Amino acid sequence: MMSPATTSPVWHPFTQHQIEPLFKKIVQTDGAYLIDEDGRSILDAISSWWVITHQHRHPLISEAIRGALDRFDQVIFAEYTHEPAEELAKGLIRLAPPGLTHVFYSDSGSTAVEVGLKMALGFFHNRGSERSRIVVMEGGYHGDTIGTMSAGARGVFNTAYAPLLFDVDTIPFPGPGREQETIDVLEHFCRDDNVAALLIEPLVLGAGGMKMYAPRLLQEFRRITERHGTLLIADEVMTGWGRTGTLFACEQAKLTPDILCTSKGITGGALPLAATLCKPEIFEAHLSQDRSRMFYHSSSYTANPIACAAGLANLAAWGAEPMDERIHGLAGMQSDRLAKFRDDSRFVDVRQQGTITALDLAVTTTGYLSEVGPLLRAFFRERGVLIRPLGNVIYLMPPYCVTAGDLDGAYEAIDEAADVIGRTWR
Ligand SMILES: *Cc1c(COP(=O)(O)O)cnc(C)c1O
Repeated sequence: MMSPATTSPVWHPFTQHQIEPLFKKIVQTDGAYLIDEDGRSILDAISSWWVITHQHRHPLISEAIRGALDRFDQVIFAEYTHEPAEELAKGLIRLAPPGLTHVFYSDSGSTAVEVGLKMALGFFHNRGSERSRIVVMEGGYHGDTIGTMSAGARGVFNTAYAPLLFDVDTIPFPGPGREQETIDVLEHFCRDDNVAALLIEPLVLGAGGMKMYAPRLLQEFRRITERHGTLLIADEVMTGWGRTGTLFACEQAKLTPDILCTSKGITGGALPLAATLCKPEIFEAHLSQDRSRMFYHSSSYTANPIACAAGLANLAAWGAEPMDERIHGLAGMQSDRLAKFRDDSRFVDVRQQGTITALDLAVTTTGYLSEVGPLLRAFFRERGVLIRPLGNVIYLMPPYCVTAGDLDGAYEAIDEAADVIGRTWR
């Protein structure tokens, strides 16, 4: 086989080109599947890095994109506005936890979080406070820009860039038996007058290893941050749009964060778009006759009308289709299949939150660079299933159109992989 690494100028993300040649071109996407150049169907069990919610090429969303192209391309978003952005903002406010009133657009999860951090600091700065410290959770992930890496877990992924990263305060992950410690440490940090915000992934820490914690803790975090005037920024970039069983994960704790970041599923996965929602006081802190107090942020493609039209169509799909039923159905199918692994000594920490399941292969080599990661990936690829374990953490985050038969195939592959690959590393 010719190695595309030597023939293509493309540098791929999170890819060691020397040892991980790309295998196939994808020529089409369809439902829960990617179709490669040989006509082989591959089950997209991780929703193409968590963006595809309903399915690949949802008809309503594809149609909306085609329609928008007849009227728009990019439109400058200062001085002017347009209907897709206006309507989408109203729709987002309607669906989001109550009390969020303003929407700032950007184009990726990372920028949505960067905007959230800047909103928080701008809020305090414009009120004459220099609060600037950010508190985050151990094992968190918020993106790959310098700012979001600073707020995320430190490790092999950012060692080279550490000199550029700013310091944050980190609360421990509230694993079983450590919940009170997490609460106490947060309380301790928030007592410091300099803390601006707690930035957190609600209920599920995604890239940090699909770690899960209870809504009750999120409520505690809200209570503590409120008491100390610390802003709560919910990074719902992965958890939003139904993944955790509700539209947004914050709903399960019945709380409204001060700032909410959403991206991945906002267009159903069709086009890049992000939104950072905030409470009125954050917007109002930037209102003034003085132009030096405006919110200094923009990206060229802010509120791209085609992407906003795709977002609107996604909202229409959420309104018109039986989404609750579909998501609960998927959660049920997932838990039925996960059940048989619960007392299986080949795995540890078998867990689920809504439509997401995860289980750690019990091996001696753990962490993101665990040797079993690439072996598992190759094994799943052979079986026509796209699963990309985070080290030894195997997880499924399928699009909602996935069938019982698709899932059976994926779990069979996991079962076999645990024997074939797990055995060597136990
Ligand atoms: C993926 C992700 C991001 C970054 O989103 P990009 O679109 O890749 O920049 C931020 N936060 C969370 C929780 C994510 O899962």
